[in-house]
Amino acid sequence: MTIDLSNKAAVVTGAASGIGYAISTALKASGASVCMSDVQPDALKESIAGLDVIDGRAITCVADVSDSKQVRKMGETAARELGTIDILINCAGLQYVSSLEKFPLEHWDRLLNVMLRGSFLCTQQFLPGMMSKRWGRIVNIASIHSVVASKFKAAYVSAKHGLIGLTKTAALEAAESGVTVNAVSPAYVRTALVERQIASQAEHHGISEDEVIKKIMLAPMPQRELIDASEIGEIAVFLCSDAARHINGHNLVVDGGWTIA
Ligand code: NAD
Repeated sequence: MTIDLSNKAAVVTGAASGIGYAISTALKASGASVCMSDVQPDALKESIAGLDVIDGRAITCVADVSDSKQVRKMGETAARELGTIDILINCAGLQYVSSLEKFPLEHWDRLLNVMLRGSFLCTQQFLPGMMSKRWGRIVNIASIHSVVASKFKAAYVSAKHGLIGLTKTAALEAAESGVTVNAVSPAYVRTALVERQIASQAEHHGISEDEVIKKIMLAPMPQRELIDASEIGEIAVFLCSDAARHINGHNLVVDGGWTIA
């Protein structure tokens, strides 16, 4: 199935790296214009340089999604450059690993602020325009940790569970307006975020990085393969298609079989 998103304008947060970059690439390949947003200006510049901009347009916008003023400014930039935004991908995220009793409050706050408050602020910014146009798509990149917990990831697990609540509420509120709001929940995808976890677990357990992947990360995934970021890009594009217009408030788990049993 070829998905045509030409004439659609998208904002992708966390677009400088990993899954956000892969989704930007997939949206661009489907003809959408893309505003790639991230908190890291240099990485953002490098990322857009690697994007094929022959069809449609791509722009960058530096913004911290947890800051309401910066989100408002991002909204203004995106609207000025690309017109009313039809598609929002909330992808900005980060991880911090610590036992609950030692979890530093500043890291708890940061993770919740970026992944939950940030998604809320961006939804508030872009949903009204979509509703008045009577077409829109919001895809929240949650995680397998929106449905299961893992030890030492209290803030991440809490933020991602919360993001599903936001997804469902937004989907209900927008249901009559042609806008859908869904979540995609991957298990381990090979990106910078996971590379950092592999390296720190190898050091912590005194084992090789290969062993961390095989014995720790892939242990709960029966398919026993890390997911490629491009797969999440294709899935996000599908959720943005007209074929997916009645998929709403859904949490699409992409977990290599983690939650089968
Ligand atoms: P990544 O580290 O490659 O990319 C995350 C991007 O988010 C970075 O470019 C970073 O600069 C940006 N970011 C961080 N804080 C920000 C902020 N305040 N404002 C704007 N941008 C900010 O990681 P990734 O693996 O591509 O993760 C992307 C999303 O996918 C995250 O929400 C993550 O939780 C989720 N996810 C990742 C995996 C995985 O295995 N990699 C699995 C499930 C879900």
